[in-house]
Amino acid sequence: MDTPQHAGLGGALDYVAAGPLEPGQLVRVPLGRRTVTGIVWSPGAAASAVLDTALRPVAEAVADLASLPPTWLQLVEFAAGYYQRGLGELALAVLPPELRKLTALQIDKRVARLVKASTRHDGPAMGDVAGGPGAAGPNPPALTPEQAAAVDALSADARPALLFGATGSGKTEVYLRAAQRALDAGRQVLVLVPEINLTPQLEARFAERFPRHRLVSLHSALTPAQRLKNWLLAHLGQADLVLGTRLAVFTPLARPGLIVVDEEHDPSFKQQEGARYSARDLAVYRAHIERIPVVLGSATPSLESWQRCIEGRYRRLDMPQRIGGGAMPAVRLLDMNQQPKERGQNAPALAAPLLRAIEQRIERGEQSLLLLNRRGYAPVLHCGACAWKSQCPHCSAWRVFHKLDRTLRCHHCGFTERVPRACPDCGNLDIAPIGRGTEKLEEQLAALLPGARVARIDADTTRLKGTLDAQLAAVHAGEVDVLVGTQMVTKGHDFRRITLVAAVNPDGALFASDFRAAERLFSLLLQAAGRAGRDAEAAERSEMWLQTWHPQHALYAALRRNDFAAFATQQLAERQAAGLPPFVHLALLRAEARTPQAAAAFLRDAAQTATDLPDAPHVMVYPPVPPPVARVADVERMQMLVESGSRVALQRFLAAWLPQLNAMRGAHKGVLRWAVDVDPLGI
Ligand code: ADP
Ligand code: ZN
Ligand code: ZN
Repeated sequence: MDTPQHAGLGGALDYVAAGPLEPGQLVRVPLGRRTVTGIVWSPGAAASAVLDTALRPVAEAVADLASLPPTWLQLVEFAAGYYQRGLGELALAVLPPELRKLTALQIDKRVARLVKASTRHDGPAMGDVAGGPGAAGPNPPALTPEQAAAVDALSADARPALLFGATGSGKTEVYLRAAQRALDAGRQVLVLVPEINLTPQLEARFAERFPRHRLVSLHSALTPAQRLKNWLLAHLGQADLVLGTRLAVFTPLARPGLIVVDEEHDPSFKQQEGARYSARDLAVYRAHIERIPVVLGSATPSLESWQRCIEGRYRRLDMPQRIGGGAMPAVRLLDMNQQPKERGQNAPALAAPLLRAIEQRIERGEQSLLLLNRRGYAPVLHCGACAWKSQCPHCSAWRVFHKLDRTLRCHHCGFTERVPRACPDCGNLDIAPIGRGTEKLEEQLAALLPGARVARIDADTTRLKGTLDAQLAAVHAGEVDVLVGTQMVTKGHDFRRITLVAAVNPDGALFASDFRAAERLFSLLLQAAGRAGRDAEAAERSEMWLQTWHPQHALYAALRRNDFAAFATQQLAERQAAGLPPFVHLALLRAEARTPQAAAAFLRDAAQTATDLPDAPHVMVYPPVPPPVARVADVERMQMLVESGSRVALQRFLAAWLPQLNAMRGAHKGVLRWAVDVDPLGI
């Protein structure tokens, strides 16, 4: 009898049970002095195991909750193997936290209550799903030819589909039609979105279209009780539509029929701690084992997905036209080399021509969106007399100056202090901010555009629940003339009155060391451009402006032509030449210690032990290097890149290597933590 497990333990543990158990059944088992929740993995193992008197008995089995389906077990097993985590650790980490706290009896009671509640009110909750036109909400629009072709193609091919559709091309309508089909067939639909912020609008559209179907959402902002309830409704097959962030990819479904991954290129689909899984990639694997269609949608697909289309593993469905014939805004490159040079802190953030373009919008009653991907007032404070800078004492990073509450804040560890009146080192009273963040841009705009209504949306202005919605509503209601924001405003929002989008300082990413920086920048700028001209009539005069010192750059040339394909082709050629993903497969071994020497020593020893592994000839292990921000909260971090041309060889290599690393722990007491990150996003 194998039952995993408990965080921190590797494989399945053995228990004996009085009665028969089935795979996927939840049990409560003793572990040490506690009783913990476990999942029956493979019951009825060798008879000798059952006779082993050392085995402890299962304390109680959850009787009324249907067992987790075999495909769920398979998904979790795959994810644990692929991302190199303990099976039990991963299995329990992806269950609703509340489920692990309850006793078997409490779980059974909750289930009974849910079942009773849903039999009381009518509707499709118990699986008698209403089909046909009656199930749909008010007046779905007639599909455009492009949409119709995409919807048809979805049911004609078993391969994963990449829906490559311009912003505003009606991708959501394609998801809705595909969902309609699955619901008509009595199946459940799982929709994944990158961010909680994006769930309400999508939820509203699905709820409006399918008023008679039960929709639940799953994300980390739900209360534990809500999350358990929604999870149970999905698992029991009572919810027809499940909409959620990356963690929702592990939702057990009684009768799965379709998986949608919206904005599939978004880095948020990659979990960045614990089991570092990619929900997008797991969604594709899950669809494969469930034998159901999966749609990945984006206007700027990840180069991984794009390459899979080229290889024929995914099928590409193109929707280049925006609904209503609106064009993408014309892209204008504002060559900063040609502008009069003004230096220093009071140099305006916007060159004169851009400022005039904004003024023009204000006169016409239209809105402008200014993108600056850096929050706070200034990224660093500086003393001109002694060269003191606002270094974080706990991190290898500057503390950001936030003017509104006069603080210096570290965006890595959160360490916050009042801004000093004078330089802490030399007493000079004249310490000045260097550079510019959204807060300063907002302040400058208010001064440059007297009478204009300037608003700002970033992580600082939206910290309180509900503030983002309120701010967006103000923009929609036309109460804002100029909106300043970070990338947060570029995602998904359907602004009708914006006819000017400007990137204030986009060049940084052109020369960043991260090989994905260009891909992210292109995506960010195209998504931002997509916020303008959503209205066909306004599209005519919509523009995107880029303030750049490098107007000749190939990335901007492709953006200007709205040519993602050309950009992707060029990037993929570069990646192939440089031996980078998706042409090679990467993993990072990360180590954290009190000193960089201790972390590096661990990694060097790790590299040494790797040389004897059978797959070592197919794998390249690079020397340890510090990540861009090496010290965070007084912990030093180092990492080591592992690369292979073969995904399978890399997997085998890592699986054989990890136990050796575990065995090294005793010799490296200074190492606080280490972890392997498969398919890392940043290197
Ligand atoms: P995307 O998700 O590709 O950015 P949306 O699905 O949000 O695009 O569609 C953009 C707008 O066009 C939405 O307001 C949507 O209601 C509308 N729309 C989508 N498809 C159609 C259609 N076939 N006919 C009319 N309007 C449509
Ligand atoms: Zn000083
Ligand atoms: Zn810090």
